[in-house]
Amino acid sequence: MEKEERMFCYQCSQAARGIGCDVIGICGKNPTLARLQDNLIYSIQGMSGYLYRARRLGFAPPLPEIDDFISRAFYSMFTNVNFDAESFLELAVESGRMNLKGMRLLKVAYIERYGEPEPTKVETGIRKGRGIIVTGHGLKVLEELLKQTQGTGINVYTHSEMLPAHAYPEFKKYKHLVGNLGKSWHDQRRLFTEYPMAILGTSNCVLIPKEEYKDRLFTTGPVRLPGIKHINGYDYTPVIEKAKSLPELEEKPSEAILTTGYSRSAVLSLKDKIKELVVKGKIRHFFLVGGCDSPTGKMEYYRDFVQLLPKDTVILTLGCGKFRFNDLDIGEIEGIPRLIDLGQCNDAIVALDIATSLTEALGIPAKELPLTLVLCWMNQDAIAILWSLIALGIKNIYLGPVPPAWVNDGILEVLASRYGIKLIGDPEEDIDEMLSVERLCT
Ligand code: SF4
Ligand code: SF4
Repeated sequence: MEKEERMFCYQCSQAARGIGCDVIGICGKNPTLARLQDNLIYSIQGMSGYLYRARRLGFAPPLPEIDDFISRAFYSMFTNVNFDAESFLELAVESGRMNLKGMRLLKVAYIERYGEPEPTKVETGIRKGRGIIVTGHGLKVLEELLKQTQGTGINVYTHSEMLPAHAYPEFKKYKHLVGNLGKSWHDQRRLFTEYPMAILGTSNCVLIPKEEYKDRLFTTGPVRLPGIKHINGYDYTPVIEKAKSLPELEEKPSEAILTTGYSRSAVLSLKDKIKELVVKGKIRHFFLVGGCDSPTGKMEYYRDFVQLLPKDTVILTLGCGKFRFNDLDIGEIEGIPRLIDLGQCNDAIVALDIATSLTEALGIPAKELPLTLVLCWMNQDAIAILWSLIALGIKNIYLGPVPPAWVNDGILEVLASRYGIKLIGDPEEDIDEMLSVERLCT
């Protein structure tokens, strides 16, 4: 059976064979409808992480528009309510609009609590002594842990998407926040086995642990792993005691120095120079390359892509997809770094603000900004962000390394014809195509 004819739904008692409807629903739901409903759930899940983290920081304003949307969206997926595929595309675009509000709320919360990030160099080596490594996105958890480890002699390291924490002024005052280890989320089994540290998992993306470090791993907040100690609230004494019980780590120099923390203000402080370089043709094109990394060889595309880009191009990045290339030194254009790390995936909102400000500085309409988005998707975050970009009318987005599995040929055709979504292919050919198309964004 072709993929596009497949579906799976077992939400009501009519489920075929008492197992699930997998070809067409007994109710009449077809595979495209089922897939669009699944997409909507994923997009709402993506937004939920941003709202959750903002609320943990005390930013919990009433959000009637989002509440109304979520109840409408979920009710639309109730059995025998809505059989109209088109309306589920509209709801998906609406989920993108809601997600913009979620990302904005989280960014405001982070900046009010921790200050606006500043470009910061981050070490990737080991300091002699005991350590705790913190993985995920939860800045509030990291802050509380840093407070509680101050003066203990324990070094705190970040992993993966926690990297941007180093760039927030409030975090810089903790001198025992010493570096970022490993690459993106899926190297954690190797990384956590290699270094005998206590480990704290704060959010997605955690993995079922290996035996080798199970007793050193703790979860907190919404994260749970079977058989792993969970900490409710923000008292991390068990993590600290575990770190104290472990042997000291030996010094290991950094293999790369990573630079992160280009906030909106940091980029806009360079806008006059950027404008001059664009006008003189010394910056030809901007790319936003990033998103969610996945453990497939096909992700090599993004490293090849960045390495192959001409030297008169500038790359903005965010999310853990950047770990595919953020160790590369791709230089500067007259003082403007060619690789500009904006932060976590929700910092897509910062990228959008920067794009808007650049069009204003350049005095051009948004559709003439020489910018191409090349995104990698893995999970719900990336889906929510994709619908946010679509909701803003941004077209010709390149997506990879594989199309989302809920997409069938019919849905892909609609995404391509209506929103200009393209799948990545060969990096060299893609770059030629991207640079030859005059109008890239609308
Ligand atoms: S809602 Fe429709 S597709 Fe889903 S289990 Fe019930 S009959 Fe099958
Ligand atoms: S950017 Fe995406 S894949 Fe990476 S850690 Fe965050 S949610 Fe997971």
